[in-house]
Amino acid sequence: MNDFWQRAIVHPFFLFLFALVALVWALVGALPAALFFGIGVSVRLYLHLRNLAAFDRWLADPDTRDVPDGTGMWEDVFSELNKLTKRRRQERQQHAAALLQMKQATSALPEGVVILDEADRIEWCNPLAERHFGLDTGRDVGQQITYLARQPEFVQYLAMNNFREPLILRDTRHGDLVLSVKLIAYGDNKRLLISRDITHLERIETMRRDFVANVSHELRTPLTVVNGFVETLQDMPNLENDMARRALALMGEQTSRMENLVDDLLTLSRLENEQNVLQEEKVDVPELLKILLEEGRSLSKGQHQLRVEIGCQEPLSGSANELHSAFGNLVTNAIRYTPQGGEIVLAWDQMADGHLRFSVKDSGIGIAPQHIPRLTERFYRVDRSRSRETGGTGLGLAIVKHIALRHQAQLEIVSEEGSGSTFSIVFPLKRRWAEASS
Ligand code: ADP
Repeated sequence: MNDFWQRAIVHPFFLFLFALVALVWALVGALPAALFFGIGVSVRLYLHLRNLAAFDRWLADPDTRDVPDGTGMWEDVFSELNKLTKRRRQERQQHAAALLQMKQATSALPEGVVILDEADRIEWCNPLAERHFGLDTGRDVGQQITYLARQPEFVQYLAMNNFREPLILRDTRHGDLVLSVKLIAYGDNKRLLISRDITHLERIETMRRDFVANVSHELRTPLTVVNGFVETLQDMPNLENDMARRALALMGEQTSRMENLVDDLLTLSRLENEQNVLQEEKVDVPELLKILLEEGRSLSKGQHQLRVEIGCQEPLSGSANELHSAFGNLVTNAIRYTPQGGEIVLAWDQMADGHLRFSVKDSGIGIAPQHIPRLTERFYRVDRSRSRETGGTGLGLAIVKHIALRHQAQLEIVSEEGSGSTFSIVFPLKRRWAEASS
């Protein structure tokens, strides 16, 4: 029996009532005793009902009303209830203060934040996200974000569940605003959508691109003129002065280096230009490999053994010119970084998961692991002097990476210092001509 019932039974009122009934019974008999008992219980019942009614009134609005005082046993019950209510009110105030602080902190963030549920419905967003995506918290909470931000690339990005790479969103509701958008998974299938305004950075990047393209373009004409004159002077039959001949040979070498550099810079600018849409045509890769083999042999001048391995006949959908340039760059590098007598294998095959792969394997000098992640940066070279000696510009792999990206392909590099390297371009299934043209 718990405390409550013990207290109820030994309550002074009941003890007094039992004593009174026993006394009346002893003096005057059973009927008056029953009468006394009945009146006593009725009074007790009335008191209980009164407390119960007070409790009921309080329950109707517990947040604003004070807990009633109560009488008898109810006094203890209401006193406990009062303590509980006070504790709950205090906790609620603390939660509200914490929530307010969090809202203020997220409002001060320099990034937009949207909380999405498992069905991409908006649960909450900060004021910056409202501005970035044209949302209104009051109106749009519970709506699917893709109803409000409908750009196809954004819808595709959300569907892909890509948590690694950010998406650059140009076509926003605010005209020239450029956003970098990133998804972060958390909790039970929930996702945070983080948006950053990179309009300013994009403007600087465009200025840089335009500057490089313009300078390269402007340099091209004077370089062609200088090179032309150097060649004419070299061909002069009466050029006897040794010093002049050596100087002209050096001038010729350096001007062609500069021409190669300008050509590579212009190629990169063209690839980076968003208006330059990819030409979609049927590219017969096995046929292209035969051409590359001939070109490679003529560059190698018999110093290396070159061969082709064709594991599949599948043609690609893409730009024949760009793919020729990317594949050619890899073959040229293999020849330049493989000592005389080395072996170079050009291959085209289909991987177990269906992806198509072009690869160039050499038995050359190889690359130490710490350099591999940086090879596609512009002008990054492992050995500067070797690159120069062999006529490198330091832009070859940057061009290859751009061309691969334009074809949704990945450039993969596997290498071991002293043993050789394999450079592969792996194309997704949708790049198969049969798939792309259907
Ligand atoms: P570069 O004109 O200097 O060759 P790339 O962008 O083509 O510029 O290559 C960057 C660097 O990567 C090179 O300087 C070289 O150090 C390294 N590299 C590229 N291909 C190979 C290869 N097949 N074997 C060894 N090193 C390579």
